[in-house]
Amino acid sequence: MRTVTAKFGGSSLADAAQFKKVREIILSDPARRFIVVSAPGKRFDGDIKVTDLLIEAWEKARAGQDFDEILTHIGERFDEIARGTGTPFDVQSELTLIRQGLLAMPYRDYALSRGEYLCARLMAGYLGREFVDPAFVVCFDREGLLDEDATREALRKRLEGLDGAVIAGFYGSRPDGAVQTFSRGGSDVTGALVADATASDLYENWTDVSGMLAADPRVVENPAALDMLSYRELRILSYMGASVLHTDAVKPVRNSGIPINIKNTNRPLDAGTMILPHLPKEHVRRAVTGVAGRKGLSVVQVEKHMVSDGAGFTAVLLDIFKNHRVPFEQCLTGIDTISIVIRSDLMRYKRAQILADIRDQLDPDVLNVHENLSMITVVGENGSGADDLTVKLLLAVANEGISISTINQGAGRLNLIIGVNEADYERAMRALYRAIAQIEA
Ligand code: ASP
Repeated sequence: MRTVTAKFGGSSLADAAQFKKVREIILSDPARRFIVVSAPGKRFDGDIKVTDLLIEAWEKARAGQDFDEILTHIGERFDEIARGTGTPFDVQSELTLIRQGLLAMPYRDYALSRGEYLCARLMAGYLGREFVDPAFVVCFDREGLLDEDATREALRKRLEGLDGAVIAGFYGSRPDGAVQTFSRGGSDVTGALVADATASDLYENWTDVSGMLAADPRVVENPAALDMLSYRELRILSYMGASVLHTDAVKPVRNSGIPINIKNTNRPLDAGTMILPHLPKEHVRRAVTGVAGRKGLSVVQVEKHMVSDGAGFTAVLLDIFKNHRVPFEQCLTGIDTISIVIRSDLMRYKRAQILADIRDQLDPDVLNVHENLSMITVVGENGSGADDLTVKLLLAVANEGISISTINQGAGRLNLIIGVNEADYERAMRALYRAIAQIEA
């Protein structure tokens, strides 16, 4: 029998009407055995996600302020779902426990995790399936890093033999039993871990859009929908800012080659986007799959005469960043010059020390920092013709009068990354997208 792990995001679980849609989707395919849920999200523009309400409650608890009103509001949201779906659920007893927990020790990750916990318990009751608490089966190590092997083993043991189950997303626990969450949007990661541990044939990720788009619709008008992309393309696009799936959700399923299908709970018949280990040969490949980008970057430029003839300069430079625990996004080397691209928010507090260390240890001829940069990437698995394509793409940006500060071209297939000032980001993105559309036409 086929096995599907289906993860539903917050907007798919926002109220009783959404819960009903989710149930219908689940019951329409018996392969959908393992269900992973987020916490209820926004019901309308301006609404507040349950996780954000929990953050507020925790902040108040930490400050010694009263947080009852917020918990009451959270209780009302779950009550509406329980009543609307006819599911017996004693939300008051659950809230009492949460209240006691927050009063005894206002612990952030515990507070944040309660949205998924309550949602999964309620969904399990509604579907008549077993509830699985990830606190016992999603394992973090003492440093707070996910222990993938231990998690796979624990999830496998817990889920084997079950016809189906509902697993709360977003959290697990450390060896001492303390609850720990992933970063925001982390239920996607839980879904991928469950899909991997249960050797699922497919990992469905249900959200409120019919798949991924070739560009950010807030910047580019009406971008094309993507029917298929490879893990590699997804990785690059999401790293560079495409936000449909959590970046850490790819690794667990990538290792076992499980396809991911992004689907829309509000339009379940839409095919959505299929993400595969490799694009099939018969798939009509476009030269470009998508465009994505990030703002908030800085470039540190270092120049030293004759340095390219020696060895070790780059290694020392990168060590300085490593010692300050500032990861870099890109390292671009030229003759006697090196440019390191870094997230500005990570650089901010360490800037003075990092620059002092570079001066002390490397005695550069030139040392500059450029801020307010953005990076835009154009990705396509179809490598042939990429040279010509790169020229056309760069021209499209240059013709807009936008100056390009860095160019980085990945080997082989198309993975072009260009740097432009933040102020030019939207214009550059639109110019690139227009050029792509013309090339594809
Ligand atoms: N509820 C959490 C959040 O809002 C996790 C998730 O939705 O995946 O970030």
